[in-house]
Amino acid sequence: MESDLIVSVAVPTPLRQTFDYRVKSGLEARVGSRVRVPFRNRQVTGILVAIRDSSALAPEKIRPVSNVYDSTGDIPPSIMRLCLWAADYYAHPPGEVFVAALPPLLRKGWNPLEPARYLHKSDTAPDPETLSRAPAQRGLLNLLQSGPVSAGDLEQAEISSRTVKTLTDKQWIHWEEISAAPRGRFEPAPANAPALELTAEQSLAIETIAAPATYLLQGITGSGKTEVYLRVMDRLLQAGQQILVLVPEIGLTPQTIDRFRERFSVPIAIMHSSLTEKERAENWYRAKEGQVGIIIGTRSAIFTPMAYPGAIIVDEEHDSSYKQQDGFRYSARDMAVLRGRYEGIPVILGSATPSLESLHNVETGKYRLVELNDRPPGAARETYDVIDVRHLELYEGFTRSLRRKIGEQLTSGNQVLLFLNRRGFAPVMICNACQWIAHCRRCDARLTYHLSIRTLVCHHCGAMSHNIISCQSCGSNEISAIGQGTQRIEKTLRELFPEFPVIRIDRDSTRRKGTMEDYVAAIHSGEPALLVGTQMLAKGHHFPNVTLVAMLEIDSGFYSSDFRAIEKLGQLILQVGGRAGRADKPGQVVIQTAFASHPLLKMLIAEGFSKFAKTLLDERRQLELPPYSFTCLIRAESGSAEAARRFLETIARKRRPDPSVVLSGPIPALMERKAGRFRQILLLSSTERVHLHQELMRRIRIAESLPEAKKVRWSVDVDPSDLF
Ligand code: ADP
Ligand code: ZN
Ligand code: ZN
Repeated sequence: MESDLIVSVAVPTPLRQTFDYRVKSGLEARVGSRVRVPFRNRQVTGILVAIRDSSALAPEKIRPVSNVYDSTGDIPPSIMRLCLWAADYYAHPPGEVFVAALPPLLRKGWNPLEPARYLHKSDTAPDPETLSRAPAQRGLLNLLQSGPVSAGDLEQAEISSRTVKTLTDKQWIHWEEISAAPRGRFEPAPANAPALELTAEQSLAIETIAAPATYLLQGITGSGKTEVYLRVMDRLLQAGQQILVLVPEIGLTPQTIDRFRERFSVPIAIMHSSLTEKERAENWYRAKEGQVGIIIGTRSAIFTPMAYPGAIIVDEEHDSSYKQQDGFRYSARDMAVLRGRYEGIPVILGSATPSLESLHNVETGKYRLVELNDRPPGAARETYDVIDVRHLELYEGFTRSLRRKIGEQLTSGNQVLLFLNRRGFAPVMICNACQWIAHCRRCDARLTYHLSIRTLVCHHCGAMSHNIISCQSCGSNEISAIGQGTQRIEKTLRELFPEFPVIRIDRDSTRRKGTMEDYVAAIHSGEPALLVGTQMLAKGHHFPNVTLVAMLEIDSGFYSSDFRAIEKLGQLILQVGGRAGRADKPGQVVIQTAFASHPLLKMLIAEGFSKFAKTLLDERRQLELPPYSFTCLIRAESGSAEAARRFLETIARKRRPDPSVVLSGPIPALMERKAGRFRQILLLSSTERVHLHQELMRRIRIAESLPEAKKVRWSVDVDPSDLF
């Protein structure tokens, strides 16, 4: 026992700590090993995070590690460091950080090098047709006619192990093992670069992005940012280095992937949510061993290891999907920057509309700004036209001049995109007799009318109501749908322009697998058409034949109580607008709004995003709002509003905060009631990050010690992106 190693293990549990175990001599374990350990009264798989000289526990209290899994599945040091940093920074239980960061198969003891077993037919086997009286045996031989099968295939074909044993005993069939020996480091190969002349700005950008540092590549849409990524990648790939590319949730489309595949012949690993567990684990291993040159994925791909790290690229770095919104709430963008620093490699954050956080980091010298201010020659920029709707007559949401413009573009053979960030038919159902409005029973939200299913749907909890005929307050049948959703716009467009196809793209219309691809293919055919969509349509797509983009309802961004709303609105306008006129056809953008004379809107359009962002940053500085201060939240929710509030109140009042930290609340979340639960928040803010973190940890310890903690659901959000 004296010679046993004492180790700390991150165990999958909601507790914010690691646990000490001993490793008996003879078992080989190191930091990053996957270990099987007894925890309470069961066995779990944890990650060995540290080797200790001693433990605070009495020697007889330290339980032994039961098993150490194969070292080929070890977590490499860079990922260990990243995960442990995140557990600390986001105040999240370390065991749960590893659960989120690793492919699930790894925790099940998966060994990448374990050979796979396949069942083969032997030469001695008879013709299956002669086995008419043994249908099960005949079935198995028939299955093997077309080649060897795995144990999983046998299970799927519902072949019993008894049948397999009978035929193995007769030596008609046999197992063969296929070793899964990894291939070596990927073979560098030059890219198939297109014959285009780089602009001076692009050449400069490619030259600049070399030394290990964080680069903010700010370039208007269509300025050739992707071309810059590809050239930088080519240089690194030819030197045998790997590149990790992060894209927004909506951005991992077949078109994006094709663009990389067309350019590079090195192996690429794609990390997306519909991979099987096995594919996910294999991609992870191939990246870790250096067998793939490029790894492309969404948020969680930031945890993919690389044997030969070359660079990390975060495309559309301002995109909100980089922040995980439940459970382990991390920012993949911020972790990319940190990981780049650990690994000593360049990190490229690209966007036409960078986050204020990143622009602030340029100001303070943490990031280096690289700009692309023009599109390549021949590609005209879009123009903006703001229509003040206050005194105009709208027909189903359209002004007369917009209807005319749409007609002109269609008859000249072009496509038109209508953007509306609201799915369904209408956002409000109202009773004309008593003004009753249909609300969700479980949320502080209105119900949205969906025409195709003739149902009222809550977009926050999914609740449905089929009563769309009568008022639930006075019983009148005079109820009407007010306002516009994508379904209603689609219907109106079909009436206004019956000779042109209307393609609607939103979460409802693309639910079935493959439909999104079909729609995108139809749009790329280039025929004149009307495209209606939410931000699904506005992100990550290039539609070269769209010459007119109309934004129909953006006004809520001007009066939201979220201080980030105006930043997000500015980003949205330029991102959606940037879809217009990508090719040699100039694009126009029409914005219908009641805020046409809003100074920030005017500035955005006349002077561009940088000026707009600078103004917002000045405002944030004066108000000491992020990024000039740091915030974190403790959220609590409960079936009773009082319980959630009291829980946070106790945490807030238990002791005085550090003088540099401001504690606000508890206050109700922006949507207080959601899915039948009441939500309250406690906001901590400070200009001193270290003090804020210490204060947060003190409050978490208080929370953990309260008996009420078991009755409310509570969570921590560091650098929250909203107060919902
Ligand atoms: P971004 O990523 O900034 O939106 P892209 O890299 O996708 O821009 O470039 C937009 C379009 O311009 C693409 O079709 C691309 O092939 C083309 N392009 C990029 N750089 C050049 C260049 N130097 N000369 C001509 N065309 C270019
Ligand atoms: Zn609801
Ligand atoms: Zn009524």
